[in-house]
Amino acid sequence: MLLPVFTLKLRHKISPRMVAVGRYDGTHPCLAAATQAGKVFIHNPHTRSQHFSASRVFQSPLESDVSLLNINQAVSCLTAGVLNPELGYDALLVGTQTNLLAYDVYNNSDLFYREVTGDNVHSLALCDFDGDGKKELLVGSEDFDIRVFKEDEIVAEMTETEIITSLCPMYGSRFGYALSNGTVGVYDKTARYWRIKSKNHAMSIHAFDLNSDGVCELITGWSNGKVDARSDRTGEVIFKDNFSSAVAGVVEGDYRMDGHIQLICCSVDGEIRGYLPDTAEMRGNLMDTSVEQDLIRELSQKKQNLLLELRNYEDNAKAELSSPLNEADGHRGIIPANTKLHTALSVNLGSEAQAAHAELCISTSNDTIIRAVLIFAEGIFLGESHVVHPSIHNLSSSIRIPITPPKDVPVDLHLKTFVGYRSSTQFHVFELTRQLPRFSMYVLTSPDSASEPLSYVNFIITERAQRVFMWLNQNFLLPEDTNIQNVPFQVCFTSLRNGGQLCIKIKLSGEITINTDDIDLAGDIIQSMASFFAIEDLQVEADFPVYFEELRKVLVKVDEYHSVHQKLSADMADNSNLIRSLLVRAEDARLMRDMRTMKNRYMELYDLNKDLLNGYKIRSNNHTELLGSLKAVNQAIQRAGRLRVGKPKNQVITACRDAIRSNNINTLFRIMRVGTASS
Ligand code: CA
Ligand code: CA
Repeated sequence: MLLPVFTLKLRHKISPRMVAVGRYDGTHPCLAAATQAGKVFIHNPHTRSQHFSASRVFQSPLESDVSLLNINQAVSCLTAGVLNPELGYDALLVGTQTNLLAYDVYNNSDLFYREVTGDNVHSLALCDFDGDGKKELLVGSEDFDIRVFKEDEIVAEMTETEIITSLCPMYGSRFGYALSNGTVGVYDKTARYWRIKSKNHAMSIHAFDLNSDGVCELITGWSNGKVDARSDRTGEVIFKDNFSSAVAGVVEGDYRMDGHIQLICCSVDGEIRGYLPDTAEMRGNLMDTSVEQDLIRELSQKKQNLLLELRNYEDNAKAELSSPLNEADGHRGIIPANTKLHTALSVNLGSEAQAAHAELCISTSNDTIIRAVLIFAEGIFLGESHVVHPSIHNLSSSIRIPITPPKDVPVDLHLKTFVGYRSSTQFHVFELTRQLPRFSMYVLTSPDSASEPLSYVNFIITERAQRVFMWLNQNFLLPEDTNIQNVPFQVCFTSLRNGGQLCIKIKLSGEITINTDDIDLAGDIIQSMASFFAIEDLQVEADFPVYFEELRKVLVKVDEYHSVHQKLSADMADNSNLIRSLLVRAEDARLMRDMRTMKNRYMELYDLNKDLLNGYKIRSNNHTELLGSLKAVNQAIQRAGRLRVGKPKNQVITACRDAIRSNNINTLFRIMRVGTASS
């Protein structure tokens, strides 16, 4: 069994996720972690008597090998790394809500201290996503997306079901991720290899080859104190350990300075354990039990289950034999061997009592009844699962289950259906998977030119009408009798969420026009078609008059916020000078023993102080508004990009950014409309 090669108990608490190992003198690895009261501690077990003289760092009163760094603000991120390769040692980087400090621990001096603004990015990682030898930037956002940036272009986007709290590169194009709902897993490029979901929170993830097979495992530190190592390919646990408090961070380093890198796990209570990778004697077996024992336990459990199942069948068969004519009472156990289960997805327009929704209908092929249905699906139900079990009086051979996906993404519905008879005590379980189409929250309606949205996208594709119909059929819940063979045709839908209209028209020339006021929906449809028809590049003409008008207003506001910001900054500088002179004059008056003048000066200072505080609040609010507006502008650029595919998409994003930079608003809107700056 794999045991820690060292264990430490520090008397400092460790803030979750705020742990980093660095060689701050170029040689000795030291653990740095954020602790209580806006401080960072640096554990240096290698050199005992380091003398610090400057103000930031001081010796911990609790431990001789720990020094403390005063940040005076809650630390929101912490990392270590080489900033200047010529120095040959790591800098410590400490982020707070408003500032970033780069600190030279060795020389005990600030490298820089900058004002920064936070955004809604929760996690970042570098990973060679496309295998070209250069690393791309992975960004995990608050809106549940993992985005891959090459330079400043988004080359891939994966939609998850919760906030992405951590990302870590594994090797090649493979990376681990963690969500705020207790999910961890591994992606290879855009495909998810595996994921597991726990009721605990993944505090920290890290890639480390613990069993020395040359491939990194995904190490997760959990909120309940558990640490586990999972195979990158299968998610199978190959090692686990427990701390008495939540895990704060998982890092690595040669902490004993013996040439071997250890996996280092830290708990919020300050317990630190280092693990060395597996040695040859252990032959990859890191757990307490042997592989054989595990296998035997697993097989005997399977045997038990099968025996139980067999006994149930036997009991049912006996009951059947003893009372073959009891069918009317429903005293039957076994369902007919030819029982089949049908599933159908459709749109239900709802009623006064129930909003419109997509609907899954499950029915059996005979007089058997459905006792219960278990559905597992990501992002639709709270907790990812949903159980439907009608009351005993409402049992029948079919069941309708409302489904309301919050977003337009295709979802796999994994179903377990319990089928039997009214009086059955045992049920046959049918397991099957149905895919809910991406646009299942739109109902086919008859075209009505009066309510057709003014906003549209327009493009040309070279696909047969039949293929377009296949795409429609795969992505929408069309009624069974829908039949479109001939071009030109037009289909219209109504959103079940907000009643918005969507019309798709196809001309003989291959020209497609999509009318919708929802720019995100237009983007989703274009992206869906592009992947279905394998379109690499698509130029699109677009107009969203209402949205563009709103954007124009936002841009005007951005200008206003900028000028207010400049004016307030200038005012503040003026006031700083005024403070200085008032102070000098007050002190002069004191030295002259002119107490009245001194008092007056200090009163003026007091008033000025109040003004300054008010000014600061205004500046701070202005700043928040400015950030919000800039975010809206950036979102608009991304949306304009998503209306295009491939090269045109990247061109639109780059050209929009250039237009913003040169403050050319009219050009910006032309690019958003026609896709290029030149008319
Ligand atoms: Ca790359
Ligand atoms: Ca391994």
